[in-house]
Amino acid sequence: MSLRMYCLVAAILLCSIASAGQKMPESQPPIWSTKPDIAAFQKIENDHLSAAQHSIDVIAAVKGAHTIDNTLVAYDEAVQNLNSAGYFSGLMQQVHPDEKFRDAATEMTRKVSAAATALSLNQDVYRALANLDISKADAATRYYVQRQLLEFRLAGVDKDEATRTQLKKLNDQLTDEQSMFDRNISDGQKTVEVANISELDGLPQDYIDRHKPGADGKIEITTDYPDALPALKFAKDINFRRRLWEAFDTRAYPKNLDVLEAMMKTRYEIATLLGYPSWADYNAADKMIEKGGNIGDFIQKLHTATSPLVAREFKMLLTEKQTTEPQAKEIGDFEVAYLSEMVRRSQYNFDSQSVRPYLPFQQVKQGILDTAAKLFHVTFQQEPNVPAWDPAVETWDTIENGKVIGRFYLDMHPRKGKFSHAEMVPVLDGIRGRQLPEAILVCNFPAPTASDPGLMEYGDVVTFFHEFGHLMHHILGGQQQWAGIAGISMEGDFVEAPSQMLEEWMRSPQVLATFAHNYKTGEPIPAELVARMNRASAFGRGNWVATQTEYTAISYDIYKTQPKDVDLDAVCVADVKRYTPFTPTPGTHMYAAFGHLGGYSSAYYTYLWDKVIAEDFFMQFDHSNLLAGEAPMRYRHVVLEPGGSMSANDLVRNFLGRPQNMDAFQKWMGEEFEPAPGGSKAGQ
Ligand SMILES: [Zn+2]
Repeated sequence: MSLRMYCLVAAILLCSIASAGQKMPESQPPIWSTKPDIAAFQKIENDHLSAAQHSIDVIAAVKGAHTIDNTLVAYDEAVQNLNSAGYFSGLMQQVHPDEKFRDAATEMTRKVSAAATALSLNQDVYRALANLDISKADAATRYYVQRQLLEFRLAGVDKDEATRTQLKKLNDQLTDEQSMFDRNISDGQKTVEVANISELDGLPQDYIDRHKPGADGKIEITTDYPDALPALKFAKDINFRRRLWEAFDTRAYPKNLDVLEAMMKTRYEIATLLGYPSWADYNAADKMIEKGGNIGDFIQKLHTATSPLVAREFKMLLTEKQTTEPQAKEIGDFEVAYLSEMVRRSQYNFDSQSVRPYLPFQQVKQGILDTAAKLFHVTFQQEPNVPAWDPAVETWDTIENGKVIGRFYLDMHPRKGKFSHAEMVPVLDGIRGRQLPEAILVCNFPAPTASDPGLMEYGDVVTFFHEFGHLMHHILGGQQQWAGIAGISMEGDFVEAPSQMLEEWMRSPQVLATFAHNYKTGEPIPAELVARMNRASAFGRGNWVATQTEYTAISYDIYKTQPKDVDLDAVCVADVKRYTPFTPTPGTHMYAAFGHLGGYSSAYYTYLWDKVIAEDFFMQFDHSNLLAGEAPMRYRHVVLEPGGSMSANDLVRNFLGRPQNMDAFQKWMGEEFEPAPGGSKAGQ
């Protein structure tokens, strides 16, 4: 559920534009239309870099006063080209089936980032923007220029030459380290061998059918999500689950231990060169949260808010565990998914397997498209026969009043060497009248086959809604005048709010009834089953928030101080113990495959920060019919469409009429202990 490509580009500056600038959007060719090989890919990228350099030269050559026409237009073209190049290389690094292509893309990402870093330290461009007369410009343009100037200062443009040279070196180094960290995770798949099929007891039959024994009689279960997550949740065999967790939480270890330590050191040097006491403080300076210390305060606030709930949930999990192990006093972190599922069955009369027959992949996909279409008043149409890096990739248009306003690609199933989680990656920034916004969803949902419709887990569908929320934000926010304020270019700690809000649509019985139909009988999912599912899925929110608080604390703790004081294993163990009631599994090193420590760095707090905002937003919708009333269009106009043309704190205030608060989040978190419709209370 990450947005790493956004962060990668944000780190390089807020750059960029497109060479197709003068073409009308309708003729914008899909990204893979030329079917580039490595050389052609490199040419596309180098052309963007040359175009960006040309725009920078134009600014430097201006005689007389700098104006919006002779300076900001060129600057935004540089931004557009650098972003286009960075998005594409980042995407190829994550999805191209050929390892050599991925290597070339990694190398290209380094080059693009270096160009962006150079721009961020270019004093001529900084002075030209600083001297622009923007007093008569519209509010969005004024905001854009001011925000760019802040980013320039955060890059160190106003430092002396020696410092700028050093910063450039460090930023290039950081890009290499981040790429390496990501690659090690993508390539770090592990396999657990199952000698006896009885170890898979408890798993659904279609899962067992998909995992036939090899010639040696052994079954291989990988650490990829579609393999690992169901096993951790359903397999009765505790030793199998522990072995799988150990494999899962040692992915990219020990390789990424050194890489992460190097990354922490590089970041600390950058921050201190720029006058900040830590990377966390530096990274917060252009965010909603403003200061590193505020992350620490937010963590404490979350910890206080969750503690009573976590204690109640832990008691329920332990009681469940004691049905088979009467002496048990502790719960390992690897057991939480399984025991939570058992509690949902025993206390909430809900078996999450019971909804899977209603959630075959194709139907879910169409259902999410239809829901988003109704919610945002657009339509979606598939473009047939569009070439892509893999035959399974689909290309879709977003249409409003008969006009195409954006394009997106769906790359939804696992492949070897592919990014192994779920994310939205921008492909092109939208610029009003000049360039259509484009983006791609990269996911790893089970693929339908001739004999298997790709039945999805409840959590998979929530993830799909989440990523689609990012996609809509990028497309609907991609209708601004400038590339640099398009889509999700606002403060990085707001971008998870629209995506997390869309997750809530999964809880609506009306929404689900439109697409969740039994794949054998066609029967819509019964409202009574949805009600039980919602109650059961509300169980464990305290533990979920506690675990997210732990991750947030890890991300903050390793970047809030000097790296020589940080022992990664000790920090992880301490934060599991401090913020969750669970026992860390010995010998694991989860940080090695915690990809967000690369892109998000100290800003993992973003997810919970935005969850608070998302729940506050969600309270503004009509809960008896989420698609009704004025809230959906007001939300689209006030929150999504402005893109990055104003501060996210203003977006929130404009929609809520006040800043966000914790009330809706607290209510959401404690819903499991609200009285059930029948009157009984679970867990008491
Ligand atoms: Zn996300």
